[in-house]
Amino acid sequence: MTDVLTPAQRRLNMQRIRGRDTAPEMTLRRLLHAGGFRYRLHDKKLPGRPDLVFSRFGVAMFVHGCFWHGHGCPNFKLPVTRREFWEMKIAGNKARDKRTCSALLDAGWRILTVWECSLKGPGRLTAESIARQCERFISGRQQELEISGNRMASGPEKQTGARQKEPT
Ligand SMILES: [Zn+2]
Repeated sequence: MTDVLTPAQRRLNMQRIRGRDTAPEMTLRRLLHAGGFRYRLHDKKLPGRPDLVFSRFGVAMFVHGCFWHGHGCPNFKLPVTRREFWEMKIAGNKARDKRTCSALLDAGWRILTVWECSLKGPGRLTAESIARQCERFISGRQQELEISGNRMASGPEKQTGARQKEPT
């Protein structure tokens, strides 16, 4: 199949892929590790290949890019060209995330999702505050937690973390 992306789209694409293993994500991992929480990275045996797996606590953790996973936050912005292509792609990703979630929950895992906008961008939280929320979840009994940046528009989706409608 031929490459359907223009050079500009490909560049955008690569920037987004390179967003993995970013400095803020590494800081968060380091803090969790320092807090005594041991994890495996990218466990292929689990549905969705979670970014971090805390097996002792039965927790699968994902660090989701807001673009690829269609987070309804200011970090999510559809490119102006080929909107339909991107909309379909992201809808596909979201559907897959949903299936992954159900499969993990069915298998008795608890799910922690850290959205990229909590780690970087204008609404980011401190790594320490994210780490604290993660640790509380990991050692608790709650089934699911999502951590977002503090500039989420208010909407029907469940959110956690401080929220504000307008930047002050
Ligand atoms: Zn986001």
